[in-house]
Amino acid sequence: MSALWDHDSAEAAAARERGIHAIPLPTPFAIGPINTYLLDDDPLTLIDTGPNSGLALDALESELGKLCKTIEELELIIISHQHMDHLGLTEIIARRSDAPVAALASLAPCLQQYDEWMEADDRFAAAVMLRHGIPEETCLALRSVSRSFRGWGAPTTVTQLLAEGDELSFRDRTLTVHHRPGHSPSDTIFFDAEHRTLLAADHLIASVSSNPLIARPLDAPLDEADDAAQCARPKSLMIYLDSLAKTREIGPIDLILPGHGPGFVNHVELIDERFRLHKRRAEKLYDLIAEKPRSGYELAQALWGNVAVTQAYLTLSEALGHVDVLISEGRVAEHFDEDGIAYFEATSSPTS
Ligand SMILES: [Zn+2]
Repeated sequence: MSALWDHDSAEAAAARERGIHAIPLPTPFAIGPINTYLLDDDPLTLIDTGPNSGLALDALESELGKLCKTIEELELIIISHQHMDHLGLTEIIARRSDAPVAALASLAPCLQQYDEWMEADDRFAAAVMLRHGIPEETCLALRSVSRSFRGWGAPTTVTQLLAEGDELSFRDRTLTVHHRPGHSPSDTIFFDAEHRTLLAADHLIASVSSNPLIARPLDAPLDEADDAAQCARPKSLMIYLDSLAKTREIGPIDLILPGHGPGFVNHVELIDERFRLHKRRAEKLYDLIAEKPRSGYELAQALWGNVAVTQAYLTLSEALGHVDVLISEGRVAEHFDEDGIAYFEATSSPTS
């Protein structure tokens, strides 16, 4: 679990000064609670809604109550990205408050047909795993785990479509919408330039490095999930590093409010640290590949041992992300064996 939001911190006080109240809600996931944020403004706005559970709804109502607010009073709901811990309660809250739901335009059709969409995501993930050497029984086991978790999300009707560069106007602030894919294809952050405040969701978290999971593109047809995995895989880590580079230059920021863990201030230092971390991991992977050709699964196992089995998709995504960087640098090439399993080979020796 990552560190928790700290209501007594200087960052929490700075947020309150700006009329922003973090409301952490419980989740069943390893990351721990998710931070939703109430903007005490006109319109009264909730950013992210938490997983679809009675426990989360209960916590939200009681925390709103402490701020003398109710769900029924909400006037706008904003969704930061497609992960279920951020949006599961949206439909329930929207129905009770009659508040419009704003999210990235390309995410809207996915959330509308959430169940079919999640099923296609699972088929895509299974096809990626098989192609990179993960045994079929591990894929099947992971798929049933994923199915059992699906109920923490729920179909959602998005009524206000957002795009890069849009401005959301409130009485006390203006939020500029920025699409920053990488952690997921729909990651959206909200920047208040005047108050130097960034609502960063899972794009940038101080206490953990966000995982750039390999995800099915938002616009890929649902019935072609298996085929999509056979085509060039989305280069999630490279997309993420590109998004981080943009956020690094966004302008002066005094307060970053993330989707998990405490608020923080030093985004440039943190992003540079992430760049260094990913560079180190890419070099480690290069050494493994230079030693002998390996599949994505073998690379993940060499780096993370048994975690590569229990968290197969996560670790495979991470390994492939670094391999993509090495391929783009021309240092590694991808080939396929007679069973169609991809393996990676160094194109030059480590000393050359
Ligand atoms: Zn997320």
